Amino acid sequence: MNENFVESLRYLVIKVLAGDFITLHALKEYLIDGESPSVLSHKYKIGKFKLRGYIQRVIEKAGNYRIAQYVIKSSYNPLCGLAPIVVKVPGGYYCTVCEKSLTTNPERHIRLDHRDIVNRIVSECTRVAKRSES
Ligand SMILES: [Zn+2]
Repeated sequence: MNENFVESLRYLVIKVLAGDFITLHALKEYLIDGESPSVLSHKYKIGKFKLRGYIQRVIEKAGNYRIAQYVIKSSYNPLCGLAPIVVKVPGGYYCTVCEKSLTTNPERHIRLDHRDIVNRIVSECTRVAKRSES
């Protein structure tokens, strides 16, 4: 599986583990269903520039538009079924794995402290993608 595939998938896995499913849904509707960013920004109530930034980020990491589409196509369903490990609580975020409140950005916390969980999910999704390829 190519490195770009893994990098863009990792980006999405971290977002979902941090409880951000909106980015995942918006990306799927943009890349697969061909919905426009302005419609999606209205639907999900996120800023158009912010949304464009996420889309850009995923395409950049994937290397090109086609691979980004492939990442979403193969991993959207497994990612939708994930349970976030960080939850929003009044005044901030709480990590259910560390069992403590977070003082840092939840995505950063997951990327740095829960690399093992991220890696495991990335390799599971990669395996699913490989299987659907053959
Ligand atoms: Zn933690």
